[in-house]
Amino acid sequence: MNESQPQFNAPYRGRFAPSPTGPLHFGSLLAAFGSWLMARRAHGQWLVRIEDIDPPREIAGAADAQLRTLAAFGLLPDEPVLRQSERGDAYQAALERLLAQGDAFLCHCSRSDHADVGGVHRACVPGASRVDPALRLRVPDGTTVVFEDALQGRIEQDVAREVGDFVLRRADGLWAYQLAVVVDDAAQDISEVVRGADLLDSTPRQILLQQRLGLPTPRYAHLPLVLGDDGRKLSKSSASLPVAEDAPVATLRRAWLALGQNGDALAEAASVADALSSSLRHFDPARIPRDRTLSFTPA
Ligand code: GLU
Repeated sequence: MNESQPQFNAPYRGRFAPSPTGPLHFGSLLAAFGSWLMARRAHGQWLVRIEDIDPPREIAGAADAQLRTLAAFGLLPDEPVLRQSERGDAYQAALERLLAQGDAFLCHCSRSDHADVGGVHRACVPGASRVDPALRLRVPDGTTVVFEDALQGRIEQDVAREVGDFVLRRADGLWAYQLAVVVDDAAQDISEVVRGADLLDSTPRQILLQQRLGLPTPRYAHLPLVLGDDGRKLSKSSASLPVAEDAPVATLRRAWLALGQNGDALAEAASVADALSSSLRHFDPARIPRDRTLSFTPA
């Protein structure tokens, strides 16, 4: 059993890392505001990273639109925005290290080869050969990762059994999110990752990669995933609509409430600046709901 302890003491550095697959919706605003509040409360820094490593899923202009929306909400990063599309050399160096250590391997299997076991890869199909093999991390049997999430509590995952050998570079040559996020969180000295609980299941893979790469493990806090007030999936509810920039104070108030905070604190705020400074004075992380999902009406 692999019990992970965060290795950061100070200074606090947080981040918001959207993928440019569309406009920011209420759920992403919650992650942005929540991570900003946690960083500012700790007198730390808050960074923004555009995770544009998947061109087929990218929507033209979405990254700039996301940055504009963040600015309209007063959420301004302390350092220049890092774009993952420019970080290929760093991912390649990490991959080469894993290959040299014997932790990564070329995989010629096709997706259908492991479909009957839920896509969990444990061994390559003998004799498979393709011109565009993927690269995977080898996850030996019994690899279990345990960590303490600041909101979700103790999380344990048998990565070998539940996930299997996972992809680092895809057959189409694109970098996998798991590798890119680990390399960049370390490169940016991120001490605390605050993000949506949809990524909770990815965290053990990320901790495992940090360990294989000799990188520190940040603290993690996974905010509840916002569902519509009818409990429907994000993609089908009003929580998935783009956040409107024309009434940022009202939307910040909604996000504040979704974070479990006392609504009175922002009731009088007349501007974004007012709302943010009042939110910093009254923010109490102990009030954040410790659930994986939250049924909530964004507007
Ligand atoms: N880019 C990922 C997403 O938008 C988030 C990555 C992260 O916060 O670790 O879902």
